[in-house]
Amino acid sequence: MIRTHALTKRFGSVTAVDNIDLDVREGDVYGFLGANGSGKTTTLRMLLGLVLATSGDAEVLGHPMPASAATVLPEIGALVEGPGAYPYLSGRTNLATIDAVGPSHSGDGRKRRIDDTLDQVGLDPSDHRPVRTYSLGMRQRLGLAAALLRRPRLLVLDEPTNGLDPQGIREIRELLLALHAGGTTVFLSSHLLAEVEQMCTRIGVLERGRLVLQDELATLLAPTGRVVVNTQQTEWAAELLGRRVESISDGRIVVIADDASAVNTELVDAGIPVSQIGPLRHDLEDVVLHATEDG
Ligand code: ATP
Repeated sequence: MIRTHALTKRFGSVTAVDNIDLDVREGDVYGFLGANGSGKTTTLRMLLGLVLATSGDAEVLGHPMPASAATVLPEIGALVEGPGAYPYLSGRTNLATIDAVGPSHSGDGRKRRIDDTLDQVGLDPSDHRPVRTYSLGMRQRLGLAAALLRRPRLLVLDEPTNGLDPQGIREIRELLLALHAGGTTVFLSSHLLAEVEQMCTRIGVLERGRLVLQDELATLLAPTGRVVVNTQQTEWAAELLGRRVESISDGRIVVIADDASAVNTELVDAGIPVSQIGPLRHDLEDVVLHATEDG
């Protein structure tokens, strides 16, 4: 769906995006992660033809960008750098304006299309107040509605949960997952690791313009083949577990094993009290910190 080769953008002496090879596949929910200023927005803008690359290539839906923008952009829903809307018009009039300039949509079914899309993002289709009275979260939802209006195959979203409260974040997450289940590929930038961990199938991590990691989330968070045991009787437990013990610290033992319940049974059968036990997992924060210099 998106492929880049050595894509680079320099602004004067600043290299905002440095030789990146992105690979977003059909059916991905791809989380594009990176600290503020790492180059996420600049990358999204190059993919959409909003800014020209200094060097390298970008392909979106199999077509070179920006050369094929007229073919590609109608197939994409995008929300980049915050939602833009006419403040004195209502949300639905804003959407009607966007719908009217689309290349493939006549006015047929417009009302229903708009009602359905507003409903989908959690905005009231009967709300006729101008957008200037909207909260930040409502504007963000309207921006998403505009991106969804044409039922795109690919959604490109820059920080889609920006400005939303926890309930709103959850609603947008559920909406994106439902769209994904319906076959939409989603490419979103974020710095919210917990969100990305719950939602994405694949991630890329930018650090100062360079793509330092790109992989399937399931691979990155794969089981470690280790079990963590918390017990007051570390010495006794270590004696029992023998060479399977990898490390011991402060009431905590890391054991080389796949099955926590089998280790638990063994310890409890020997009379060793276990206060907590479970598989050792890496979370996304560990993975990202490890990949970046901060780690
Ligand atoms: P954030 O999460 O804060 O939005 P980001 O990862 O999206 O950050 P970018 O906005 O792409 O990062 O910025 C990357 C770098 O490029 C920054 O150093 C920024 O100052 C610089 N930059 C971006 N746009 C321009 C521009 N139009 N002119 C000059 N420098 C720019």
